[in-house]
Amino acid sequence: MPQAFDLVVIGAGPGGYVAAIRAAQLGFKTACIDNFKNAAGKPSLGGTCLNVGCIPSKALLESSENYERVQHKFAAHGITVKDASIDVPTMIARKQKIVDQFTGGIAGLFRKNKVTSLHGTGAFKAAAAEGYTIEVTTDGKAEEIQAKHVIVATGSVPRALPMAPFDNELILDNAGALSLKQTPKRLGVIGAGVIGLEMGSVWRRLGAEVTVLEALPGFLQAADEAVAKEALKIFTKELGLAIRTGVTVQSIEKGKKSVTVAYAVDGKDERAEFDRLIVAVGRVPNTQGLNADAVGLKLDARGFIEVDGDCRTSLANVYAIGDVVRGPMLAHKAMEEAVAVAERLAGQAPHVNLDNVPWVIYTSPEIAWVGRTEQSLRDAGVKYRAGQFPFLANGRARALGEPAGFVKMLADADTDRILGVHIIGPFASELISEAVVAMEFGASSEDIARIVHAHPSLSEAMHEAALAVDKRTLHI
Ligand code: FAD
Ligand code: AMP
Repeated sequence: MPQAFDLVVIGAGPGGYVAAIRAAQLGFKTACIDNFKNAAGKPSLGGTCLNVGCIPSKALLESSENYERVQHKFAAHGITVKDASIDVPTMIARKQKIVDQFTGGIAGLFRKNKVTSLHGTGAFKAAAAEGYTIEVTTDGKAEEIQAKHVIVATGSVPRALPMAPFDNELILDNAGALSLKQTPKRLGVIGAGVIGLEMGSVWRRLGAEVTVLEALPGFLQAADEAVAKEALKIFTKELGLAIRTGVTVQSIEKGKKSVTVAYAVDGKDERAEFDRLIVAVGRVPNTQGLNADAVGLKLDARGFIEVDGDCRTSLANVYAIGDVVRGPMLAHKAMEEAVAVAERLAGQAPHVNLDNVPWVIYTSPEIAWVGRTEQSLRDAGVKYRAGQFPFLANGRARALGEPAGFVKMLADADTDRILGVHIIGPFASELISEAVVAMEFGASSEDIARIVHAHPSLSEAMHEAALAVDKRTLHI
């Protein structure tokens, strides 16, 4: 008899492992299947986020930012460091240690919560009245398990350009970009999205000449226009990224040690040769190997598993969450959907508000936002008031030596309800939480303006941005 579970989760990224843990806490007999193997060929839980995404990228961003500080920012404090150097293999080893600690930690959490962890690829084999037969294949060997309920959390994979498949030698995806053994002299990045900008920042700070080629005519069009404008100025003038927008890549040719990209921009044909090329043109849902057709699991036109607002798929008792379904491809979105689905299975009535999911780009300065951008409000004809406050006038930011950027708040002109908050500046990733909480509670800009904020703190910039909505800032 195959082993039978109340719930089988396919995928152990932030969506899958959190769903498995929460379901086990709620009393479900739960198994979680994952097929990720790390560069050493060992199974490693945590999915893209822990292995080759959020966590390793933040580790390298921190290392490279420290190098940047030593070289360019410490002198203002009277600190001189002679002959500063960076040892890339040490930096990469530190990153890997952090990754290994966290991925090992998931295995520990599974043991603690009595989740059965199965390494292999999970595929639908059959559907019957009592549930689903799931086949788990590891190194050519298959076993079957039974599931009353299934949560699919198979995540996403990098989108390759057809003319330039990844080899992770010269043409790199996120995993390759996070594991370079030395700083390339000339680095090309195709795609000026979150991943392209973060990876470009890391290697630029370590000395690479970085050229970013973006197809869209504008820079960071998903962000608020004022933030995008400020970011472009800082990334080009201070960081030294060469950012080209409105680019049509025509061909990518691989040589022995370099890659040549031919592209058209502003009506002209150009070519550039790079020692390494990162392709960061987005990610696609990963449904390969699931055998979705066998049981009639419906995908939408873009290949995402089709779900309703509660993550229910076209199949009874089968849910899908995270990057493999619609909505922002963010780890915290996957985790919240995970908890909500587990609790729904237990008869509770949870809700995830996709309108208030915060976005963060961990460049320097960081960029974070929640809610509507000014351009989207304008285009929709919504009447709003905007308030903005620069970190230049914030004591803590000046003491930190991080005066670039601002907080911008957008509030409904009639009700004063906060509609969006946009930050470019130090610790924007942390500061945005205040805005998320405020918006979830339906706060007005006046609510934030009347709340005591510690002094001196970066959060005072949020306070002042709220005051600015009513044109009554105190410190500018
Ligand atoms: P994944 O994390 O992709 O996990 C899916 C897992 O399922 C994988 O382990 C995969 O191997 C496994 N799997 C797939 N198919 C099967 C199968 N059939 N059987 C068994 N196992 C299977 N998000 C943020 O919120 N903040 C960040 O700072 C951030 N930084 C990022 C940086 C980079 C470089 C990248 C690439 C991504 C980043 N993201 C970030 C996005 C984040 O990693 C994803 O949104 C998140 O990992 C999605 O979680 P998930 O559980 O849906 O899928
Ligand atoms: P993200 O969606 O944050 O991962 O960012 C991906 C970025 O790559 C977006 O800004 C896209 O506009 C950009 N992009 C997608 N396809 C191409 C392409 N062929 N050439 C250059 N940029 C691209």
